[in-house]
Amino acid sequence: MPGIKPSTSLTSLMMDKQDVTLTSLTQYARRPGATQSSLLQSARPAAPEEKRNVESEEKKTLPAPKKKRKKKHGITANLSGTRYEVIRLVCEKCKFDICKEDDPNSYLIWSDSFVSADRITELKPFQRINHFPGMVEVTRKDCLARNMMKIQRHHADEFNFVPKTWILPADFSLLQNYGKDLKAKKKYKTFIVKPANGAQGHGIQLFRNAEKIPPTEHFIVQEYIDKPLLLEGYKFDLRIYVLVTSCDPLRIFIFNDGLVRMSTDKYVNPADPNLSNLYMHLTNYSVNKHNEFYQKGDSVETGSKRSIRFLNEYLRKNDFDIVLLWRRIYDMVVKTLLVAQPHLLHAYRMCRPGAPAGSDSVCFEVLGFDVLIDRKLNPWLLEINRSPSFGTDEKIDFDIKSALIEDTVRLLNIKLSDKRRNYFAQKAEAQKRLFRTTKRNEADMTEIEKKKQSIEKRKEELREQLARVRKATAREDFENRNAGRFRRIFPSEDKLKQQKYVNIMSSIFGIVMSGRAPAMQKEIQKVYNNQFREEDILDLIAECEADEKDGKLGSKAARGPKPLSSMPISLPSPPTEDEFDEEEEEEDAEYTSPPGSPGLNRRESRPPSTKSRPGSLRPDSRVSNDASSLCNSRPNSGVSSMRSRPTSNMSTVNSRSKSLSRLHGKQSIMQRSLIDDNFLITVVKEREDELTKKTLQALNDMRIKFPGKTDQEAELILDTLHENWKFHKPRIASYWLVKLDSIKRRKVIDIVRSNVRAVLQRIWRISDVDNLRLYRIFTRVFNRLLWSHGQGLWNCFSTTSQNGSWETIFSKSSENICENEFNCCRRIVQLCRDCLLIVYQFAAEAKSSSQQNSETTELSSAGTLSSRDKASSALMAPHNTQTLSQRYSKLYPRADTTAT
Ligand code: ADP
Repeated sequence: MPGIKPSTSLTSLMMDKQDVTLTSLTQYARRPGATQSSLLQSARPAAPEEKRNVESEEKKTLPAPKKKRKKKHGITANLSGTRYEVIRLVCEKCKFDICKEDDPNSYLIWSDSFVSADRITELKPFQRINHFPGMVEVTRKDCLARNMMKIQRHHADEFNFVPKTWILPADFSLLQNYGKDLKAKKKYKTFIVKPANGAQGHGIQLFRNAEKIPPTEHFIVQEYIDKPLLLEGYKFDLRIYVLVTSCDPLRIFIFNDGLVRMSTDKYVNPADPNLSNLYMHLTNYSVNKHNEFYQKGDSVETGSKRSIRFLNEYLRKNDFDIVLLWRRIYDMVVKTLLVAQPHLLHAYRMCRPGAPAGSDSVCFEVLGFDVLIDRKLNPWLLEINRSPSFGTDEKIDFDIKSALIEDTVRLLNIKLSDKRRNYFAQKAEAQKRLFRTTKRNEADMTEIEKKKQSIEKRKEELREQLARVRKATAREDFENRNAGRFRRIFPSEDKLKQQKYVNIMSSIFGIVMSGRAPAMQKEIQKVYNNQFREEDILDLIAECEADEKDGKLGSKAARGPKPLSSMPISLPSPPTEDEFDEEEEEEDAEYTSPPGSPGLNRRESRPPSTKSRPGSLRPDSRVSNDASSLCNSRPNSGVSSMRSRPTSNMSTVNSRSKSLSRLHGKQSIMQRSLIDDNFLITVVKEREDELTKKTLQALNDMRIKFPGKTDQEAELILDTLHENWKFHKPRIASYWLVKLDSIKRRKVIDIVRSNVRAVLQRIWRISDVDNLRLYRIFTRVFNRLLWSHGQGLWNCFSTTSQNGSWETIFSKSSENICENEFNCCRRIVQLCRDCLLIVYQFAAEAKSSSQQNSETTELSSAGTLSSRDKASSALMAPHNTQTLSQRYSKLYPRADTTAT
């Protein structure tokens, strides 16, 4: 990657040029009372004010050199969200342009805090941000415990690396019973109580008697690992750095160094008198630095903070099996992230609908795993930090963290050309969309044409598959060459282990996703078990071509591309380099040509003749008012004719443009390309506007159906609920915000979502609506409605603001939303509101009927609850596909109009 010389280490940089900066940085940190900001200021270059003074002094003596304002053309990094100087130093070393402000269009965005789903949705494919949506499922202590417990129930032996945990107050009575059991057996255990969302050792307490632990909200209780491995008599834990570069598919790396954080009072077994000695029981730097015995290390071998490399050496010398230890740690890390995977994948796909499978991930994350090792060399996962500290108080911090960030940035493989690649991909996508609408009706086709179409379709699928396989191979190759001090632990090189992980992942999806699991499990086997090899796909493509040539289509066999021509057919005409002079002065050596880019191998990217280019449709394609027909003239349209007479006779345009392009040579080609772009954009826009209007119409016609009732009755129910709003409001709020869990809330929204998808499929005539801009906009609205445990939808019921607060998702967006698109969103919000009310009423009626039954069948109140729950989930849950799809179709009187 540009700017990083693999041979130069940051340490060497620190020792020479940056010496002053880093010394001051360390000194500031050592001075008591120095704040982080003062520390950072000291490390930053002189303020502009100071600089100006220096410059004016110089001017008096030296002739002012002619200043050239250099434009920034490089890879940009937005570091406004991070307070860590070391990240800035690494980015500078990589020759990134650091943005002064919060530039949302930067190539790299690094933030210390949580990043909203909206922000991730808005990212362009060439951007990278340092958090995944959904990672909270393993980075909050209570979420980690909850998710682990769920999986432990099915795989107790595989997931035995988390201390036994209780989430308060829900598990309070279980904890009490556990304490009583221990007492009865005359056993004594120690418990550690921690805030669910705490950090740096805040609020932690130890107890010897479980019965004395109060049922405090948002706390967790863990069994205390009371026989930790000791280092020179001190308890320690490990800070292990793990990098996730993608979740679709999952790729995990572990850094080969990290921190060993020691406590500062020698360890003795927990007993009542020492329970409050946190300098003995906790290993946090933030706690122990306050102890007078805390030692700042001058090397990695002394002091209260050491390196993992040192620990390995120490253990080896003391005859510990470190290979076994690290095998266990790798296994623990992979399994933990397998637990997170359903959440990561789901959240990522929600934020990035339409992103082709296997495409570069816009998210990455450096996680800090806190791991304790016991005397039997078992690793115990204490917690995972999603924003591990990159503070560099000591030299050891700087050495390890700077190398970590440098290798992370290298693995991200950010290239200047990514932006251009994105531009072409969007353009190709726009063309694809445009031409898709011209598909002929099957009924009008001859048998031969139908066969030809099916072979073409199959070939296109195979080409896409081939592109994916090649991309995966290229990625792996890149990782192997650029991993630096990282080691990839998933997918694993060890085939047996990989198979085991794939099976575990598959099982976890089954546990977490229930109804939707089979499809995902199939996908998992396909993606992670390397079922497709390049040669196999090439053979299949060759077979398709042979079918065509063997006359299976009749006498006139189509001339298809050779087997290696594996890229999509519909590609835009390549613009010249000049178009991008502004943006790109230097080109990356590792740049691999995107479809349609100037550096593309044309044999691979395009069919041999211009016949199959998107602009030159078959003569029998529909003309006149069909948008695509306008494009018949596109590749040959001349500059002047297009400008002066956009609607002029196309044949004249064609002939004129041919001679013009010959005359003007390269320049003319460039201009033509620009005009082509504008023309194409206009045509696509018009067509999209028209289809958006139709979508709005269809959405306005949609109604939420109450099972077993007519539309009028359903309307009446909605009216009644609104009329008695004061009465129903608290009940609906508690139903939506408290009683329904996140999965059920999502299912309510999914009732509307699945029908909206069907509308889009029908009107836009495509099966994969994820790629539609309009659907991406809708996804943001759906995400907003589910925001903050459903608060998003509940806000839409607010009477003070007619439309609730969902509209704000567009106020900060750089995207322009047209009126019809906005009205579609408004209608969707309305449908979701109605849907919640109907589901609520349905559940209420189910409850009252089950209560009536209970009088006769004497059901317990718990039974009544669960049957009510069943009723509501039966209405919503998509898992019982057969009956539910029938149910769904009942939900909408116009389901026939929404289905394709
Ligand atoms: P925080 O996020 O506040 O740092 P941790 O869960 O990391 O909370 O716990 C802080 C410290 O407490 C750990 O570094 C470790 O030394 C100790 N600790 C936490 N949980 C346990 C446990 N179950 N057994 C033994 N020690 C623990």
